[in-house]
Amino acid sequence: MSSVPQQILDALTRVEMPKVVRAELPADTMEVAGTALPVYRCGALVVGSGAAGLRAAVEAKRLGEDVLIITMSPFGGTSACSGSDKQTLHTAGTGRHGDDFVKLAADIGSGGCMDQDTAYIEAVGSINALAGLQYLGLPLPQDRFGAVLRYQTDHDDVGRATSCGPRTSRLMCKVLAEEALRLQIPFLPKCEAVKILQHDGRCVGVVAIDQNRRDEPGHGLCVILAGAVVLATGGPGELYRDSVYPKHCYGSLGMAIEAGLAVTNLTESQFGIGTRRTEFPWNLSGTYVQVLPYIYSVDADGTEHNFLADYYRTTRELVSNVFRKGYQWPFHAQRMVDFGSSLVDLAIQRESAAGRTVYMDFLRNPEPGANGAAFSLEDLDDDVREYLVNNEALHELPIARLERMNPLAIELYKMHGTDLRSQPLPFNVSNQHMNGGVAVDSWFHSSLPGCYAVGEVCGSHGVTRPGGAALNAGQVGGVRCARHLHEAGCATSSVSADTLREQVAASLNVATTALAADTGLQVSAVRDAIQARMSDQAGFICERDAVAPALAEAQSLRDQALTTGFAIGRPSQVADIFRWRHLALASEAVLTALDHYIRSGGGSRGARALVAADGALSVDTRHGAIEGFRIVPENPAHQQHKITLRWNGSDFALSEEPIRQREDLNNIFFEKHWPAYLTGAIYRDGFKHN
Ligand SMILES: Cc1cc2nc3c(=O)[nH]c(=O)nc-3n(C[C@H](O)[C@H](O)[C@H](O)COP(=O)(O)OP(=O)(O)OC[C@H]3O[C@@H](n4cnc5c(N)ncnc54)[C@H](O)[C@@H]3O)c2cc1C
Repeated sequence: MSSVPQQILDALTRVEMPKVVRAELPADTMEVAGTALPVYRCGALVVGSGAAGLRAAVEAKRLGEDVLIITMSPFGGTSACSGSDKQTLHTAGTGRHGDDFVKLAADIGSGGCMDQDTAYIEAVGSINALAGLQYLGLPLPQDRFGAVLRYQTDHDDVGRATSCGPRTSRLMCKVLAEEALRLQIPFLPKCEAVKILQHDGRCVGVVAIDQNRRDEPGHGLCVILAGAVVLATGGPGELYRDSVYPKHCYGSLGMAIEAGLAVTNLTESQFGIGTRRTEFPWNLSGTYVQVLPYIYSVDADGTEHNFLADYYRTTRELVSNVFRKGYQWPFHAQRMVDFGSSLVDLAIQRESAAGRTVYMDFLRNPEPGANGAAFSLEDLDDDVREYLVNNEALHELPIARLERMNPLAIELYKMHGTDLRSQPLPFNVSNQHMNGGVAVDSWFHSSLPGCYAVGEVCGSHGVTRPGGAALNAGQVGGVRCARHLHEAGCATSSVSADTLREQVAASLNVATTALAADTGLQVSAVRDAIQARMSDQAGFICERDAVAPALAEAQSLRDQALTTGFAIGRPSQVADIFRWRHLALASEAVLTALDHYIRSGGGSRGARALVAADGALSVDTRHGAIEGFRIVPENPAHQQHKITLRWNGSDFALSEEPIRQREDLNNIFFEKHWPAYLTGAIYRDGFKHN
C-alpha cells in the first residue's frame, strides 16, 4: 500500500470546487424583432472559466477593471475535468542550476510553426505564471529547499515538468476561482456566447444564451456589451468521435471563425492513448505506462492477442517503448519509424480498426515479445531501468509499481468506478488537444481589435508542444492579455445597443427559424457526420488522398448548416444549433488548412501521419515493412510559416504567414528600455500582428 495517507490522496483527487453563484446584474433591454432581450454591460468580458479564463479575469480585476465572467459551465471544461497520471505544468526549471529562457523558448517551439517571440514570452512568463499560482495556494510539490520537484515529459529533454497529481488543472481552477470570488468578480454561469458583436471594426461584446432564461420569449438570448472580450473557451473537443476531452467541450473556435477572426495552425493537434469517452476520458501517460502494464487486445470471439509482439523485435524493445509513452505520450509521426514509441499508437489504431478492443492490465507483466524472452526488470533499456531504480519501483507487478510511484493514479480511476487492482482498462488513441486556434499577437490580442484569445482557443502553439505547455500558455496569456486590455483602456461599455440590432436579430432568427421548422438538419446527425469525418479522415493516421473529398463533404454540410439550417423541437436545443453551426465551420477550416498543406507538398509531422501509396517512407515492424502503408515525409521548410485562414462569410481566404522572429535580446538594456515600460510603449511597439 502507498505510504501517503488516504486523506492526502483524497484531497488531491476528490477536489471540491467553490460555489459559484449567479450574479444579479443590472440589465437594460433591447427590442429585437418584437422581443425584449436583456443587455448587460461590463469592462472586460471573460468568456469561459477554465484555468486560462480565470487567470485573465483575476489579473484584469486586480488592475481595477470591471470584469464579468460568463461561462457555459463553471467547472465543466478540460481544466476542471481532464487529466492524466500527473497532469503537467511545464515551466522554467526552478531547482538546481535554474534554467535558460532562450533554450526553453527554443524547446517550446522546436516542432516549428510557432512564433519565436511567443515562445520566449511563454518561457519568461512561466515564472510569474507559476509563482502566482503558488501564491494563491496551488500545492505544487517542493523539496525541503523550496525548489519545485520536476520530471521529464513529452517533448522535454530537460525535465521541466511539475504536477500536483492527476488533477493539477482542476486545482488551478480551484485556487483561481477562489481568488475570483474573493475579488468579487461576478459570474453568469450557464451563459454561453454564440456570436461576437462588432462595431466600427472593433469587438464590442457578444450575444449569449442564458440557459436560466431559455424558456422566455427570446429563448435565453441576451446581449453583453464590453470594453474588451477575452475568449477563454477551451478547445473544440467535440470535433472528433475518438476524443479524450470531457463531454460538451465545444469551444468558440467556430464562433471566432464566423466573426472573421484570423485563425492559424489548425492542422496541428495532439492525439494519444487514453481511456475512452464512452467510459471515462483520461490520458494514460506518465506512470500508467512507465510501470509497464501488459497491453493486449481482445477480438470478437474473446480471444486475447499480445499484438505488440507483432510490431517490436524483442520483449525488451517492446516494453521499453511502452515505458517511453510515459514521456513521449502524444503520437508523433517520426517516432513510428525505427521501432520508436509511436509504433505503439499505430499498432493500437490497427487493432481498433480490426474491431478489437485494446486493454491495459496492471495485474500482469507484459507477455514475451517476438524473441520469446520472458519479461524481466533486469532486461530493460538503460533509461527505463534507471527510472524504476531511481524511484525504488522494482516491484514484481505493475500495480505494485504504480502503488509505489503514483498511488493518486489508482485513486483517480477508483473514484470513477474502475479499480485497477482488479480489472484491466479498455483504451484507444484519441484526439486530445488543438495546438492551433485564434491567431494572436504577442499580447494575445486577436486580429479583431478588442478581442483576445487565451488558453486552448488561442493558436499560439506550433506543431509540437512540451507536455504541460498548454496550461502554462493559458496562464501566461491570461496575465498578458489583462495587462494589454488595461493599458489599451477598457472602460465599461457605452456602445449603443441600437447599432447592433441587425447582428443580434440574425442570432435570434437562427433560433426562431429552427424552432419553427418542420424539416431541416438534426443536431445529432450533424454531430455524427462531423465527428466521424474528423476521426476517420483527419485523424492521426490520415489518408492523404481522402482529405480533399472530406473537405468537399464538410463544405456541403457547413453550407446546409448556415443556409438551410436546423430543425429542433424544443428551446433547450437552441444552444446546440449554434454549437454545431460553429463546429461545422471549424471542421471545414481544419480540413481547408490540411488540404492546402497537402497540396503544397506537406508531409507527416507532429501528431499526424500522412499515408499515401506513393509515400517515400515505409514503417517497419518485426515482420518487415507494413504492407500498403507508406507515409509522406515532412518537408522541414513548412516549419517556417503558419497556415492562416479568415472566413469572409462564404469562403476562406488562406495565407502562409512567416513565423514571427524574436528581436535580438542582447540589444535590450535597462536604461534604454525603461521608458518604454513607464510610458506603456511596450504594449504598442515592437510586436505586430502578422
Ligand atoms: C485528457 C487531457 C489531459 C490533458 N493534460 C494536460 C497536461 O498534462 N498538461 C497541459 O498543459 N495540458 C493538458 N491538457 C490540455 C489542457 O488541459 C487544456 O488545454 C486546458 O485545460 C484548456 O484550458 P482553457 O482554460 O483554455 O479551457 P477549458 O478548461 O476547457 O475551459 C473552457 C471554459 O469555457 C467555457 N465555455 C466554452 N465555450 C463557451 C462559450 N461559447 N461561452 C461561454 N463559456 C464557454 C467552458 O464551460 C469552460 O468553463 C489535457 C487535456 C486533456 C483533454
